[in-house]
Amino acid sequence: MSETLDLTKALISRASLTPNDSGCQKLISHRLMQLKFHIESMPVGEVENLWARHGTQSPLVVFAGHTDVVPTGPLDAWHSDPFFPTVKEDFLHGRGAADMKSGLAAMIVAAENFIKKNPNYPGSIGFLITSDEEGASIDGTKKVVEALVKRNEKIDYCIIGEASSEKILGDQIRIGRRGSFHGKLIIHGKQGHIAYPHLANNPIHASFKALAELAAEEWDNGNEYFPPTTFQISNIHAGTGALNVIPGELEARFNFRFSTAVTVHELQERVAKILNNHKLNFDIQWELTSQPFLTTQGKLITAAEEVIKEMMGIKTRLSTGGGTSDGRFIAPTGAEVIELGPNLATIHQANERVNIAELDQLTALYEKILEKLFHT
Ligand SMILES: [Zn+2]
Repeated sequence: MSETLDLTKALISRASLTPNDSGCQKLISHRLMQLKFHIESMPVGEVENLWARHGTQSPLVVFAGHTDVVPTGPLDAWHSDPFFPTVKEDFLHGRGAADMKSGLAAMIVAAENFIKKNPNYPGSIGFLITSDEEGASIDGTKKVVEALVKRNEKIDYCIIGEASSEKILGDQIRIGRRGSFHGKLIIHGKQGHIAYPHLANNPIHASFKALAELAAEEWDNGNEYFPPTTFQISNIHAGTGALNVIPGELEARFNFRFSTAVTVHELQERVAKILNNHKLNFDIQWELTSQPFLTTQGKLITAAEEVIKEMMGIKTRLSTGGGTSDGRFIAPTGAEVIELGPNLATIHQANERVNIAELDQLTALYEKILEKLFHT
């Protein structure tokens, strides 16, 4: 009998396609209320958010996560109903099994176990749960954090239960994420007849060398915690569809995944410099979707490293890889943030699954981290 397995199943069976919560937070609130958590529901539009706190003292240790899941994709790729939790051999299958209903279940059961054993621990435990992580991420964690900042409710440590492990549970934890910075580049030329190029200015030809130079540029070398910044062009559009017309402009979309070794301002200046060197007439619209964040060595990372060593017998790797996460909203408040969760191999895929043995192990890891942070 595993309480974490049961709760994970109960959450998977609630088909919470982003931004729907489908009753997951009601179930979570009910569990936390029994532990005498103070529960606040903070819905924004279609998005359900939950802030729950046990205790009033500091330090405040928060478990954070999301109840929403990504779409299933074509159902014939699944061996079982994605919203009917199915145990097969050593694995629990279902949408959200790894991302991140098992993480949610493990943190709830860990808090239950910890509070029962240590009713007078010196500090507070919080839960920050949203149904808007897989979607726009505008009305979720960001809004709850804004509300907390407004009333000076300060998170000291935050554990996000996103899938982070690669082979063995705990072999990798995330201590930060790269930033994401989009650009929409328009290169202006002059439209004309393809037989009279001297009367036109072909923006496709004009852009080749500049785009190649942007693609080949080394933006930084990364640093101790971050891999080098990457630049990728995602879309190029030019041409009218006619075969005898030189188009008037070219549009290119590109994205930086950037480290803390460079700033957004530097990236903008360097892109403009390369384009100017090629004497292009251009406009760029920029959109910063997330700043990079990094938790450097602190009490939470140390606690996680020690617990993983003691329980799993391995040294965890501190990583900043992967996409962005809601940690980007929590870290700027000054909280130490890590992501520690189950195996990430099947997230967002058909037949998403989690190893059942990892469920109780993850629960125990979370509980032991609480013990270390509160010195109980
Ligand atoms: Zn997730």
